[in-house]
Amino acid sequence: MSIHSPKLDTSTIRIISSEEDHVARNYHALPVVISHGEGVWVTDVEGKRYLDLLSAYSALNFGHGHPDLLAAARDQLSRLTLTSRAFHNDQLAPFAAALAELCQKDLVLPMNTGAEAVETGIKVARAWAYRVKGVPEGAAEIIVANGNFHGRTTTIVGFSDDEQARDGFGPFTPGFVSVPYGDAEAIANAITDNTAAVLIEPIQGEGGVIIPPEGYLARVRELCDTHNVLFIADEIQSGLGRTGATFACDRDGVIPDVYLLGKALGGGILPLSAVVANEDVLGVIRPGEHGSTFGGNPLAAAVGRQVVEMLATGEFQKRAAALGEHLEAGLTALIGHGVTAVRVAGLWAGVDIDPSIGTGREVAELLLARGVLVKDTHGQTVRIAPPLVIRATEVDWAIEQLRVVLES
Ligand SMILES: *Cc1c(COP(=O)(O)O)cnc(C)c1O
Repeated sequence: MSIHSPKLDTSTIRIISSEEDHVARNYHALPVVISHGEGVWVTDVEGKRYLDLLSAYSALNFGHGHPDLLAAARDQLSRLTLTSRAFHNDQLAPFAAALAELCQKDLVLPMNTGAEAVETGIKVARAWAYRVKGVPEGAAEIIVANGNFHGRTTTIVGFSDDEQARDGFGPFTPGFVSVPYGDAEAIANAITDNTAAVLIEPIQGEGGVIIPPEGYLARVRELCDTHNVLFIADEIQSGLGRTGATFACDRDGVIPDVYLLGKALGGGILPLSAVVANEDVLGVIRPGEHGSTFGGNPLAAAVGRQVVEMLATGEFQKRAAALGEHLEAGLTALIGHGVTAVRVAGLWAGVDIDPSIGTGREVAELLLARGVLVKDTHGQTVRIAPPLVIRATEVDWAIEQLRVVLES
């Protein structure tokens, strides 16, 4: 492990600004240029090593370059990469069968990015409302939660309450009602005869790892059953082992009607997302009504099948649960020492930084200088989401770096 100077390396910043002249400025990245990754560690162009506590927003749950995932990708890469869905390929069916089994559902609709899975979920919910529930054409409503993050398409940012995500991008798609997160009675009050679905994150990731009160998801399930409304769980960030269970919904013993999956489903190698539901829901989509050129491609399907196989052992979920307790103990000890609150679910934490110490961004920059990669969210929060292959000693080392940063 190399030693990091606590000051930001200005030469790195200069390299980045001159070399990224042609990259559109839709991100404000931390000043580090990564060229290699292995497990939980990445290396920058100058050979400095950093512990990756972001995991590409949980797309790297299995770490950088997991040998089994690389093997699956390499093997498929040399045989067949893309057919389009105009034809069948021999990889999609086994992937779909494995993922359906992991979710205990009938059908899988493969897409690429998370936002596409969300868009697909919205289309499925609307078609289901008109064709099955009997909602008058054009009147379907979907209930979402304040503070949500479901992606960046115009429809999706239209039902966000983050001004930065929305401002300048209207007009927006109608048909969404937003209610306070974590408040099941607000959902009960918002349900009408035209409600097609409730679309929520079981834990809000971008929102700052916001964990709803116990019983919330179960009550949402109950309300959806009572009123014949679909429960769509966006598990794109919370799912696939992150919280110590296969799905964050499992923690409350809740099974949604529709799972939206993405991020880690592609093994950190390529974009792969999916909508997973039973025949009575996903079966409403007929040939020609929805699709994607790359969705269900054999390369992604082969990687996705390997991801599902790894999750089916339960090993990663167990690691996340056990190490999550370790992480929580370490972070909780920082409360009152530069930290005002922590929220932890498995290996996923939102750490609220005391404003008198600095912003989340400032803490992220100081951690970078000490060899730890994190990302701030919503001003004062630092999000921690290491690859699930992290070791307890590495968790301890990262917390020690945070402690030093907060002290300085
Ligand atoms: C990241 C994310 C998305 C969007 O996924 P993209 O692959 O970036 O389009 C949707 N929902 C949640 C909860 C996410 O965290």
